[in-house]
Amino acid sequence: MLSERRAKIVATIGPALSSKENLKKAIEAGINVARLNFSHGSHEDHLFSIKTIKALSKELKAPVTILQDLQGPKIRVGRFPEGSIELTEGEVVSISHNYEEGSQGKIPTDFKNIEKVCKPGAKILMDDGLFELVVKEIKGDEVFCKVIYGGTLKDRKGINLPGLELPIDCLTEKDLKDLEFGLENNVDYVALSFVRTGNDIKILRDLINKKNPHIKIIAKIEMLEAIDNLEEIIELSDAVMVARGDLAIEIGHTHLPAMQKKIIALCNEMDRPVVTATQMLDSMVHNPRPTRAEVTDVANAVLDGSDALMLSAESATGDHPFKCISTMHEIIKEVEAGDGFFYYDISLDPDLVEGPEAIAASACLTAMKIDANAIVCLSTSGRTATLVSGFRPKARVISMTKIEDTLNALELPWGIQTFAIDTYNSTDEAIENVEEILVKYGLVSEGDKIVLTLGVPVLSGTKTNSIIVHTVTSKTAPLADNDLPLRCREKFKNEK
Ligand code: PEP
Repeated sequence: MLSERRAKIVATIGPALSSKENLKKAIEAGINVARLNFSHGSHEDHLFSIKTIKALSKELKAPVTILQDLQGPKIRVGRFPEGSIELTEGEVVSISHNYEEGSQGKIPTDFKNIEKVCKPGAKILMDDGLFELVVKEIKGDEVFCKVIYGGTLKDRKGINLPGLELPIDCLTEKDLKDLEFGLENNVDYVALSFVRTGNDIKILRDLINKKNPHIKIIAKIEMLEAIDNLEEIIELSDAVMVARGDLAIEIGHTHLPAMQKKIIALCNEMDRPVVTATQMLDSMVHNPRPTRAEVTDVANAVLDGSDALMLSAESATGDHPFKCISTMHEIIKEVEAGDGFFYYDISLDPDLVEGPEAIAASACLTAMKIDANAIVCLSTSGRTATLVSGFRPKARVISMTKIEDTLNALELPWGIQTFAIDTYNSTDEAIENVEEILVKYGLVSEGDKIVLTLGVPVLSGTKTNSIIVHTVTSKTAPLADNDLPLRCREKFKNEK
């Protein structure tokens, strides 16, 4: 069963998954979240993906959360007449935003203030940190640098200026247009790239609230400045991504493993879902099997406490997109079944005095003590289920709601499964409906215990305030495998 896996899989959609048939195979192989990367593709491409994924989610009864990843203020080199130039170690080259096009030794950039922020001695990295330059001097609008590590520098490659405070807006004109598109087309999450402060999140939140306030925000942690403001950024975001590509360039590769653990631990502590991203199964872009190091990286990200793990080029442009998804699924499942994985991470510290947290913690504690099979959260926003997920219960975490937007948006946090439920007019009817759904889907059987959280009286619209323990009495058989929601089926396709 796909639903046995608790850590979620985010897959980037790209040419390798651009048809309806391939998107269906990707969902069947195990994706929970579809990431639309707005650094690439047209609005037409993204609209096709959104519409197709929403339709497939319904057809397969497998909600998929849609994540719009904004490009952000990525600084890039300009274009060269031949498409590239050679950077030779030891040579001095110049960079300027006033070069119309580049030539050997002259690098154009789209960053208007480069000469203002760079100081002699500053490090400039290009093409995902492959090439390194050091600033020697600044003359007018030209920044002269010595090449430390060189190679072939191609058109439009990224520039990183680690540790420098950049006077740029967190949302570019392109981002604002892309955001407008995302809000109109009802994505579930918007990921903000190159976040530096909590204020960046506030700016995005204001724009979202004006048009589509249910949409959530993921802060991508990939700047040194974001590390300095980590708590504030996490507090103001709905979820966080450890964006290891740019982060490694900013902080230096050797600092990445400890920083990954630190960000994940803080997110776990602050109850924010966290995604670990980039190069998790990178060699599988071309090879059908992962390296030992990649298997271990995926496993360690799960053990660190990630809610979800992300595939980038592996699923977007790779030769084996479905195999990557199923490989990630298998590794996660194996880790979660092993001795190193600990369920029920419940700390009843003083912060739990607030109602929703206290209910969520109590539901988990009760489930642990009575060895319940499922914790079912009946809610409109999915907030209680997200809090329950944070305690990493061994019992299944199930969110039931009538609201389609909530169903779709809950695939990111660890362990949450969502099912639609019909209207209920009393607590008894709610329990009856929950039991019927779980038995029908083969998730519980007679004698199993369920812990329910809900707002009572049920017709008053009250927020979650109650916990009920229920023992299943139904003797009904589950539906036939083919009639079950995709993730409840015993048999699912492990595509090659
Ligand atoms: C990253 O830098 O790791 C990342 C996920 O961001 P992007 O792929 O947008 O560069």
